[in-house]
Amino acid sequence: MKIRLLFILTLFAAVFSAQQGPYYHQYAKYKMDIDVDAANFTYQGKQTLTYTNNSPEELKVAYFHLYWNAFRSGSIMDQRVQSQGKNGDSRLQKEGISRLASIPKEQEGAQNIHWIKQNGKDLKFEIQGTVMKVELAEPIKPKSSTTFTMEWDANIPMQIRRAGRNNREGIDMTMTQWYPKIAEYDYDGWATFDYVGREFHAPFADFDVNIKIDKDYIIGAGGTLENPLEVKGYNANANVKFDQNQKSTWHWTAKNILDFAWAADRDYSVDSFTILDGPKVYLVYQKSEKTALWEQAKPKITQYFQLMNASFGKYVYPSYAFIQGGDGGMEYGMCTMILGEAKTLEDLCGLMFHEGAHSWFQQILATNESMRPWMDEGFTSYAEDLCMYRIFPPKNPQPNPFTGALDGYRKFVKTGKEEPAVWLGDHHDDGRAYSVASYTKGETYLIQLGYIVGEQNLSLIMKEYYSQWKLKHPTDRDFLHIAQQISGMDLKWFHHYWINTTKNIDYSVKNVEYGSNSTKITLANNGGIPMPIDFSVMTKDKKVVSYHIPMNMTHVWKQKDIYGGYTTLEFWPWTQKEYSFTIPYSKTQLSALGIDFSQRLADVNPVDNFVEVK
Ligand SMILES: [Zn+2]
Repeated sequence: MKIRLLFILTLFAAVFSAQQGPYYHQYAKYKMDIDVDAANFTYQGKQTLTYTNNSPEELKVAYFHLYWNAFRSGSIMDQRVQSQGKNGDSRLQKEGISRLASIPKEQEGAQNIHWIKQNGKDLKFEIQGTVMKVELAEPIKPKSSTTFTMEWDANIPMQIRRAGRNNREGIDMTMTQWYPKIAEYDYDGWATFDYVGREFHAPFADFDVNIKIDKDYIIGAGGTLENPLEVKGYNANANVKFDQNQKSTWHWTAKNILDFAWAADRDYSVDSFTILDGPKVYLVYQKSEKTALWEQAKPKITQYFQLMNASFGKYVYPSYAFIQGGDGGMEYGMCTMILGEAKTLEDLCGLMFHEGAHSWFQQILATNESMRPWMDEGFTSYAEDLCMYRIFPPKNPQPNPFTGALDGYRKFVKTGKEEPAVWLGDHHDDGRAYSVASYTKGETYLIQLGYIVGEQNLSLIMKEYYSQWKLKHPTDRDFLHIAQQISGMDLKWFHHYWINTTKNIDYSVKNVEYGSNSTKITLANNGGIPMPIDFSVMTKDKKVVSYHIPMNMTHVWKQKDIYGGYTTLEFWPWTQKEYSFTIPYSKTQLSALGIDFSQRLADVNPVDNFVEVK
């Protein structure tokens, strides 16, 4: 009896402590026929979706995103904007009031599902705001595929956030989040996040899309145009075909992307050029004095793709399109929608480089943006700053490419409004806190990692992350695993402090005692996050001598870093608040000393880190 009970308990324990099994991901193949009524900003849609369940679970329901249902008065997005008030996304408001609250009926967005079938059988579906729940007629067994067919019609909303018609620069249609898209399913279950204005997640998919639209429109899209000789804008020898309704059909395909997006305008021009060892780049925009900088951006874009390929792994798709559209900048598969008018070439390229970098951190390395926004926005911001620093070198020398991000982080910490980066992207109370948690702290995560493990190791980590996880859905544990493997260090403590808490780093030079031929230095840890410490002195003859004080939790000490060759000192236990050491220089030999001359350490109060020796 006793033995049997023990056996049952053991069995239960085994079931409930089951670990995530081998990696898999779901796959979708969309075939869509779209007929646009440009005069009325509506379209009719037909979709055939072949969906493959690679998970070990049998699926009895499926979920689809209907993002455009957010663009109405009283929608979940409207409620969120209203309850957030001035702390919310300013683009969704006018003077703190939701723009959706007063949207006229004829300008609302909608995706109206007429019917959906599975393998020819009618399915019951329930629309829950921006999510559609579908009861399946036949469960989808592990390692098997099913086919959904669907018809729907849609109202293209007035452009308020990302998608929509008549944006402020006069682009007729920004067609993003525009079709019923099956939700991602993984170990965490269905990713059924409501659309309240921020991030997206989806399974990898192939697209084969026919778009029928009035023949005077030009389309820009993330994908390959299969019939450039039959439509306007892409080939000088084109013989534009159109039907009795004066409409042309555009045939687009794309493979292994998360989301197919397009935009249409009658005044678009299409420029293209091919990057050596890179993609064919399309610039789709309204050419005018206001967008003259796009032409100047071309050589910078070439440098950019080459630098990104060398730093983070090769761009995998045949083309990439920068399309004028939307309300700021937003990334999609093989393209971005960005506003076209910019004050300077730096501003335009900054936006292009940011959205372009999402091709790596969101698209190729397809993290879940809703659950871990810091991994896509943060890593993207890191790549953007690195590229801007190299391609537009700062006029005044900077100690590293990230001083702007670090200053922004320090400033926000002082407001006391910081929220942990681990929070779900859509659930931050304060819009600024979301930005800092996702963009700035995600970027600073990599800056701190470079400081801890050394820049050469960080570079290896980024390349290994790409090679193990390209065209997959990694999580933060997968990234941390690689960081620990490459560096040999234990980094769990850092990951936890930086992502799950709002504790800060704050060190200082507490005391300096000058002897006749040496100097005793005492450092203090006044903050909540322990870190290894780089310490340097500058001698009177302008020589920099560097020391490294390891922190015991890493267990393996930093060996090299592009910012200095170090003499490694005795480790500093994380439990100890002060640390003293002696250097073989007298006061007369020294001109300055301090913590981290590279200024990568995200110390919230860096003024007490340096001492000028007088
Ligand atoms: Zn971004």
